[in-house]
Amino acid sequence: MKNIVIIGGGTGGTVVANRLANRLYDQKDISITLFAPEKNHIYQPDLLFLSLDLSDPRRMFRDEQKLLNKKVNLIQQPVDAINVDNKFVISKGKKYAYDYLVIATGARLVPDLIPGLAGNNNHFYDYSSAMQLRDKLRGFKKGVIVTGVADVPYKCPPAPLEFTLLLDYKLRKYGLRSSVDLTYIYPINSIFTIQNVVPILQKEYDTRNIAYKTFFIVDHVDPEKHEVVAMDGETVKYDLLVLIPPHRGQQIISDAGIGDEGGWMSVDKYTLQEKNHEEIYGIGDATNLPVSKAGSVAHFQSGVIANNISNSVLGIDEKINYDGSTMCMTEIGYDKGLILLFDYSHPPYGLIPSRLNHLAKVFYLDYYFANMMYGLP
Ligand SMILES: Cc1cc2nc3c(=O)[nH]c(=O)nc-3n(C[C@H](O)[C@H](O)[C@H](O)COP(=O)(O)OP(=O)(O)OC[C@H]3O[C@@H](n4cnc5c(N)ncnc54)[C@H](O)[C@@H]3O)c2cc1C
Repeated sequence: MKNIVIIGGGTGGTVVANRLANRLYDQKDISITLFAPEKNHIYQPDLLFLSLDLSDPRRMFRDEQKLLNKKVNLIQQPVDAINVDNKFVISKGKKYAYDYLVIATGARLVPDLIPGLAGNNNHFYDYSSAMQLRDKLRGFKKGVIVTGVADVPYKCPPAPLEFTLLLDYKLRKYGLRSSVDLTYIYPINSIFTIQNVVPILQKEYDTRNIAYKTFFIVDHVDPEKHEVVAMDGETVKYDLLVLIPPHRGQQIISDAGIGDEGGWMSVDKYTLQEKNHEEIYGIGDATNLPVSKAGSVAHFQSGVIANNISNSVLGIDEKINYDGSTMCMTEIGYDKGLILLFDYSHPPYGLIPSRLNHLAKVFYLDYYFANMMYGLP
């Protein structure tokens, strides 16, 4: 019997489990086990729309069990430790041996890393925070909203920018923009990470009168003065603060000795295998690869991992590589969007905002739950 264990039932873990099950459905001596503590699977991109009252909370959840191929054995509890030397994981005191391990544990939000941030900030990177922000924005009629990012890396690089542009669009639609000032702060020296996209987005900011401060590395938040303070002493005042909190990898990765200083797994950028343990693979946000932390990345990587593990199990001596493929759908408001497609060797191309791209983003949820999760094209 060969045991394949997957930790984490988000985008990467679920799709890799189903792709493995599709490839190995007739193999009686293969077990595929997925540890996924949450009963419901969430489609995280919709949190952006939810926080702005542009989507219904009921759209974004599905029962994890119902998303899975019957060959996948779902265990709805967390993994507490990984023993990489003896090849087992521990969950609720029980050992589960593996021959292949896929780590798909995503990122965790750590607001406490920035003094004053927790309790004084708003964001839309988890369900309850997105709902709270939605409710606050419903009542916000006048003042200064500061948006942006507290620290890198973070999930879905365009999301804070999309939030800012959509917020501007919504405020204009409701005739509130003249009484609300928007300022965006970002830790690198431009408003976005991908340089050939910056001119398009900066033009949107400039024409819509959205102020921005780049190279603004947040040191702390002063809730008494309602100020965000940068490392160099620069300050920005807010009435409502919407900063994406710092992200780190999961503690079990660091505890297993396979994480860098941020708790992100070090994997080979092509094979996605852990540097010192070829039977361990990392997928999606959990890794320290030089790619966006995005569901599309986890999706592209799932094909590589499922193919290479199933070939190894079946004794087929052929491997494929991950080429850095990434897709970022970026909303800019006014029912327009951009689709950024790129990989390790090519920057994004075809950058023309369109209504079609906007519709693709809005309806991607349906594709995600109807096809993508099952490992279908
Ligand atoms: C607001 C927002 C908008 C986004 N928009 C986009 C977008 O437009 N396009 C895009 O491509 N991406 C987008 N993303 C990013 C995308 O959602 C993530 O990159 C993607 O979900 C990563 O998949 P993953 O499997 O690596 O991690 P996740 O989907 O986060 O799953 C990780 C899972 O691991 C589980 N886990 C953690 N620790 C353990 C443990 N010890 N034991 C068992 N399970 C564990 C967690 O419970 C979680 O379910 C967005 C994200 C947010 C927050």
